[in-house]
Amino acid sequence: MSSESGSAAATGTSGTPVLSVSDLRVNYGKVQALRGVDLTVDEGEIVSVIGPNGAGKSTLANTISGFKEYDGRVEYRGQTVSDRIPEDLVEDGLIHCTESRDLFGFMSVDDNLDLGSYRRGDVKERKSFVYDLFPRLEERRDQEANTMSGGEQQMLAIGRSLMSDPDFLVLDEPTLGLAPVILEDISEGIQAIQDAGVTILLCEQNVTFALKHADRINLLENGEFVRQGPPEEIRNDDYIRESYLGG
Ligand code: ATP
Repeated sequence: MSSESGSAAATGTSGTPVLSVSDLRVNYGKVQALRGVDLTVDEGEIVSVIGPNGAGKSTLANTISGFKEYDGRVEYRGQTVSDRIPEDLVEDGLIHCTESRDLFGFMSVDDNLDLGSYRRGDVKERKSFVYDLFPRLEERRDQEANTMSGGEQQMLAIGRSLMSDPDFLVLDEPTLGLAPVILEDISEGIQAIQDAGVTILLCEQNVTFALKHADRINLLENGEFVRQGPPEEIRNDDYIRESYLGG
């Protein structure tokens, strides 16, 4: 059985929390986007937050990466996120690949990757990791980002995040609007990133995709977690099957 917002299920098993969130509340004026969220991501895990449009996934991602004021507790590696500026969090390995991708459209693939590494050394080594991961990017290294397909742009956005040498990668909707054939490439990429030792928070509307990758899943609806548990429990939950997996 999956627990409903159970705090035990919100906790991982490795015992080394990378991210600890408790009683997180975020408002946009009178709109309460997050209403008391508890979440832990442990070293090496992929934890997924699933939920429909407007559930609060991007708000959660933006808050964790230091871009949103909040009430409650958000700690990255034991340090309070609101005490830090986003640049410092990046310096400490917390990298956010946003839903909007934020590419520099008139710059080449290669230049976009270089910009991801502007505060890091080892550019060559990381770029070859990215090009090995997504060979299609290397084939198009001189192409302008805004002339790439949606799937290629998503690969580039993830690739640019990797150039910042993440310890903890917040991926917001990496599959949004992508065809199944591209999903396979993104899927292999995410697996390889985890294998390289990166901890991942995957915010995702595609529940099937999240189930394939995540060690633990959290269903967010209207700013609250309504289910939290391992994928095998979530997959067999009647409500999730009926509402998100087509019965
Ligand atoms: P989507 O998958 O559609 O991006 P989401 O789960 O990421 O949805 P959020 O974008 O976090 O959801 O939005 C959560 C709630 O906060 C929604 O009701 C949304 O309308 C509201 N919201 C988000 N950003 C703002 C903003 N800048 N100003 C006012 N309300 C906002």
